[in-house]
Amino acid sequence: MISVVVLGSGTSTGVPSVACDCATCTSADLRDKRLRTSILIRSQSTCVVVDTSMDFRRQMLDNHVMDLDGVVFTHHHFDHIGGFDDIRPYNFRSGRPLPIFGLQETIDVLQSTFPYAFGLVASTGAAVPSVDVNVVDSAPFSVGNLTFTPIPLRHGKSLRVNGYRIGNFAYCTDVNFIPESSWPLLEGLDVLILDGLRREPHPTHFTIDESLDVVRRLQPRQTWLTHIAHQIRHADVDPTLPSGVALAYDGLVIQSS
Ligand SMILES: [Zn+2]
Ligand SMILES: [Zn+2]
Ligand SMILES: [Zn+2]
Repeated sequence: MISVVVLGSGTSTGVPSVACDCATCTSADLRDKRLRTSILIRSQSTCVVVDTSMDFRRQMLDNHVMDLDGVVFTHHHFDHIGGFDDIRPYNFRSGRPLPIFGLQETIDVLQSTFPYAFGLVASTGAAVPSVDVNVVDSAPFSVGNLTFTPIPLRHGKSLRVNGYRIGNFAYCTDVNFIPESSWPLLEGLDVLILDGLRREPHPTHFTIDESLDVVRRLQPRQTWLTHIAHQIRHADVDPTLPSGVALAYDGLVIQSS
């Protein structure tokens, strides 16, 4: 049994968005306050965060995450890597590099964005993040007692993204196309967290209707939509979704086998 905490359910701008006074951005409903998309996965002995969002520091503080066994990255967009520098307190506490796992291009962008953390620029003596780099592709890998099976996904025309399956739980964010060979990896799910940006079409994210097509094919027991934009006001849209599908929100805790 694992427990999954939705640390952030918001699209890249976060919700509310800067410089917007729409009904969602001015809503008092806490479910309309969305940090950047990320989850925490916990077993009895292991705690892993998926992506270091731009809100990573806030997310670790709000959820009292004292120790991390690793960071697993989905892809290199800044909303998913922007909080990387804030892993340093975990280095200080453990005295060890933090294991990170990601596609080669994700690691490449981490290195070009944060070169000081990888010894690629001269050290100034300041504390820098310390990581153990693990390049992953499509083969399963373990972090502590959790086994991650990568789910190859597409985000726009050409960008590879990894979704991940752990037991009967799967996390598929930042996706607008599931390659045919990935569908079998998503059969028999207990819980699926799936990209569902908004109702209007988007070149790199599933709309809510496109997500519902995926749900009809896969039939997970429960689906939560994430990476939600400010066009979606929780109280308006959540009741319109079919049974077994709901909008995720920050702080949501899910149990899965
Ligand atoms: Zn994103
Ligand atoms: Zn807005
Ligand atoms: Zn993205």
